[in-house]
Amino acid sequence: MVSTEYERRIAARFAGFDQDGNGYIDREDFNAATKALLAEFGTTARSDKGQALYIGAEAFWQGMAGIADRDGDQRITREEFVSGAVKRLRDNPDRFAEIARPFLHAALAVADTDGDGAATVEETARVLRALGVGDGLAATAAAALDADADGRIGETEVVSAFARYFTVPE
Ligand code: CA
Ligand code: CA
Repeated sequence: MVSTEYERRIAARFAGFDQDGNGYIDREDFNAATKALLAEFGTTARSDKGQALYIGAEAFWQGMAGIADRDGDQRITREEFVSGAVKRLRDNPDRFAEIARPFLHAALAVADTDGDGAATVEETARVLRALGVGDGLAATAAAALDADADGRIGETEVVSAFARYFTVPE
């Protein structure tokens, strides 16, 4: 069914958002991602970091739905994802950064266990694994995020990498 490299990439991106794998993206997927991240780092939902992550996830969901949920049923199907989200985010990566930033900022704060303002490569790999990325790919992707190889991954690196992921040319 999945034939071209482009379609494979889209399928992978969709699966990344569809955390519970039920075939569409909705608020529950963002809640699931939030729960998984908090569990991985032993952070409670009530804590400041936990609250910030839930708020960021809701903003991320609302932003995605605003772009892609064309029939307004609070679900983003694969078709809506491809024709709405992917195309519009590719046309406007800054808009995507804006939508994702509060969530990514909060996720980084959860992962930054020593509170020095950045996550280590290993902490970033734990984030990716908690979100369902496979072991090997999580390690490779985390290392690649550390563009200047200082062992620390900050918000700018995460946001731009996330945007870039969605703006790969067709
Ligand atoms: Ca889902
Ligand atoms: Ca929809």
